[in-house]
Amino acid sequence: MAYVIPPPPVVTLPVRDTSDLFPVHRIFCVGRNYAEHAREMGHDPDREPPFFFMKPADALVPGGGAFPYPARSENVHFELELVVALAEGGREIAVERALEHVFGYAVGLDMTRRDRQDEAKQARRPWEVAKAFDRSAPCSALAPARAVGHPERGRIRLEVNGSPRQDGDLGQMIWKTPEVIAHLSRLFTLAPGDLVFTGTPAGVGAVQRGDVLLGRIEGIGELRVEVV
Ligand code: MN
Repeated sequence: MAYVIPPPPVVTLPVRDTSDLFPVHRIFCVGRNYAEHAREMGHDPDREPPFFFMKPADALVPGGGAFPYPARSENVHFELELVVALAEGGREIAVERALEHVFGYAVGLDMTRRDRQDEAKQARRPWEVAKAFDRSAPCSALAPARAVGHPERGRIRLEVNGSPRQDGDLGQMIWKTPEVIAHLSRLFTLAPGDLVFTGTPAGVGAVQRGDVLLGRIEGIGELRVEVV
């Protein structure tokens, strides 16, 4: 027996301060998980349960670096987010047990073709073109929970060309990490290697070619991306 075409390569994230690699299975993303960001997008954060969308694993840009400005868009936004990496899967995971499934955390950017997303919202069409395009998920090395614990608060901020653009705190998340994992596990059977982008604080905005994005999450790490 042989593959008739080469099998896809395993997508990996480096593990901070080691030569270890974390194999990535799927990428889930949470929408509107910070109240101020929900309001800036024209929504009432008090009336919405969490909702989810996905990116393909090979949309990752491991460790950051070059982000090619995507074709067929003139309005591409940054969204800086805490990323949770699962070491164990499961379904119907209890909130109280959810953190036992976490391998570690990273700093991620949920890059978004906002013009295509606005069109999709108006036409009630799916978001893949806006959210799941090539290299739409730059992500830092993983900080293992055994080293950094499970952050409940901590500053999350993004500078573009040295100017502050997003500045929030993980404590502002509407749905906390254990609740996000529990909710997702009621909709999907989660698996080792799954990543979850947990939503962005307020201050999202457009990037231009040549911009340098520097995202930092207190206690977790940093992510540097250049728009090319
Ligand atoms: Mn997002």
